[in-house]
Amino acid sequence: MHETVDLRSDTVTKPTEEMRKAMYSAEVGDDVFGEDPTVNELQKRCAEITGKESALFVPSGTMANCIASYVLTNEGDEVIVEEKSHIYNMEVAHLTLISRVLPRPLPSNKGEIDLNLIKKSIRKRGLHVPGTSLICLENTHNFWGGKAISPEYVKEAYELAKNEGLHVHLDGARIFNASIAYKKPVTEWTKYCDTVMFCFSKGLSCPVGSILCGEKEVIEEAKRARKLLGGGMRQAGVLAACALVAIDKMIKRLEEDHKKAKRLAEGLSELPGIKINPEEVETNIIIFEFSHPGLSIEDFLNRLRENKILALAISTTQIRMVTHKDVDFEDIERVLEVCKSIL
Ligand SMILES: *Cc1c(COP(=O)(O)O)cnc(C)c1O
Repeated sequence: MHETVDLRSDTVTKPTEEMRKAMYSAEVGDDVFGEDPTVNELQKRCAEITGKESALFVPSGTMANCIASYVLTNEGDEVIVEEKSHIYNMEVAHLTLISRVLPRPLPSNKGEIDLNLIKKSIRKRGLHVPGTSLICLENTHNFWGGKAISPEYVKEAYELAKNEGLHVHLDGARIFNASIAYKKPVTEWTKYCDTVMFCFSKGLSCPVGSILCGEKEVIEEAKRARKLLGGGMRQAGVLAACALVAIDKMIKRLEEDHKKAKRLAEGLSELPGIKINPEEVETNIIIFEFSHPGLSIEDFLNRLRENKILALAISTTQIRMVTHKDVDFEDIERVLEVCKSIL
C-alpha cells in the first residue's frame, strides 16, 4: 500500500535496493573510450537477448529511436510510421529535425498497419518524390493501450520491407511486456527487425537508460550518432549496473503488472462515465474513454489527485493509467473505491 498511487507512467518506478547496491559497487571506466566493463557487459548481454551482433547503451528511448532513424536513412527519405506511435507524436519531431526525413503516418488496427496499405505507400525515389527507406513499428503500443503486437505481424511486415529493400526499426520500449503477454522470447520479434530499442527506465525500474541493438556496422554508426546528439557518457557503468539487475530480476515480475492492469480495467469498466473493455487489456497500460454528465476530465483527475491518485489525460476524452512495481494490488482496490465514490 502506497500513500500516493502514481499511475501516470511506469517511468515513475524507483530503483530497487539491489540496483542501488549494484551502482555502489559497479566497476567503471570511460565508456566513450569503450572502457567501461559494466557497460560492455550490459551491451553484450542485450545483444544476446535480442539475437543481434551489437548493442549501444544510450540515455533515453527517444535518443535510441532518433539514432536508429538517423543511421538507417538518408536525409530526404520517407519513413513509414504508425499514426499513434511514440516516435511520430512524442519525440519532438526528431525524424524531421535530426534525420531530416519525411514521416508518413499511416492508420492501423491497434498498432498493426495493414500490409497492403504499407505496400501501397512505399515510394521509389524519383524526380518528384522521396524514396521510402524505413518502417518503424512499436511494441507494446503505448497509445493503443499497451497492445502487444504479434510476432506473426512483425514477421510479415519485415518480409514485405525486405522485398522492397527497406529497413525496419522496432520501438520496443516495452518489448518485455509483449514477450510476457505472449509467453514467447523477445527474439520472436527482434529477429524481424534491423534495429530494436528497449527501455530500462520503464517497468524495469531503472533510473536511466535504454539500449539500441543491431548488426555490428549499424551500431558502429550509432555510436557516432550518439556522440553527435551529446549522448556519449563516461563512467556510465553505475547506470549499466542497474540495467543488468533489471534484465536478471525485473522481467518476470512484469506479469504481475499485467494482472494489476486487468483488475483495474475490470473494476473501472463497471463505473458510470468510463468506457473500457477489460478483455482488450493485454499488458500494463490501460486507456479509457471518459464522459460523465457532471464531471469534466480535468475535474475527475483533480478529484483523484486530492485523493493522492495520479493519472494522465492523453486526449480531451481519454485517460491513461499505467501499472508498475511501485503500485500494488491493495492500491488498485483503493483506486477503484475512490473512482466509485467520485463517479
Ligand atoms: C517511453 C517510450 C519511448 C522513449 O521514451 P524516453 O522517455 O525518451 O526514454 C519510446 N517509445 C515508446 C513507445 C515509449 O513508451
